[in-house]
Amino acid sequence: MTRPHPRRPVWLLDLDNTLHDAGTHVFPRINQAMTDYVARRLALPHDEASALRVHYWRRYGATLLGLIRHHDVDPHEFLREAHPFPDLHRLVARDHGLRQVLRRLPGRKIVVTNGPAAYAAGVLRALGVAPLVDDLIPIEAMRFAGRFMPKPSRTMMRKLVARLRVPAGRCVLVEDSVDNLRAARACRLRTVLVTGHGARTAGAPPAARAGRGRRIDVQVQSVGQLPRIVHRLP
Ligand SMILES: [Mg+2]
Repeated sequence: MTRPHPRRPVWLLDLDNTLHDAGTHVFPRINQAMTDYVARRLALPHDEASALRVHYWRRYGATLLGLIRHHDVDPHEFLREAHPFPDLHRLVARDHGLRQVLRRLPGRKIVVTNGPAAYAAGVLRALGVAPLVDDLIPIEAMRFAGRFMPKPSRTMMRKLVARLRVPAGRCVLVEDSVDNLRAARACRLRTVLVTGHGARTAGAPPAARAGRGRRIDVQVQSVGQLPRIVHRLP
């Protein structure tokens, strides 16, 4: 009798506030750069530009989508100018523990981020984990029929799973954003909430908490716990 093939998960790992702390240095600079861009491009005072940036982020899940839809901005220009990080290696420290975790995790490891490719690749290099990641799916790759569909787009998640050629139930989305996890669960992916860097759970209904039949399968403080929770995934 042959033993069943072990179900190796395909890890879909968010980047910011999942693999590293983006809240301290990185997000403040991105927010400032986005606000500067919106103020310059739309000729708005800074406070109005900042409010519009937040409004589009809340409404569409990404400021970029609002700027494309309502102001016809060049997405590549925006992404480049909103991520000014010539000194990324000074803001994101090498993470030996994360290297060990990624080495120990069974299965493919794919970073899926709403950030742009150049920035995401820079963070992975600064963390020292780039060689341990099998693939990087940045926001530029979440474009279908000319339309950007970043997380939490369910259409994008279904297309992503189809492109990976594995059943959705073998994919595990690891995230700090409950909205993104909720969308993934609706697409039958498995879900792990990472809370250690300040998870975006505000306003999440109680059903968003971890547990059997919930929208989140497992909740961890840090990705360092992933090797220990593989067996707890349904
Ligand atoms: Mg995140």
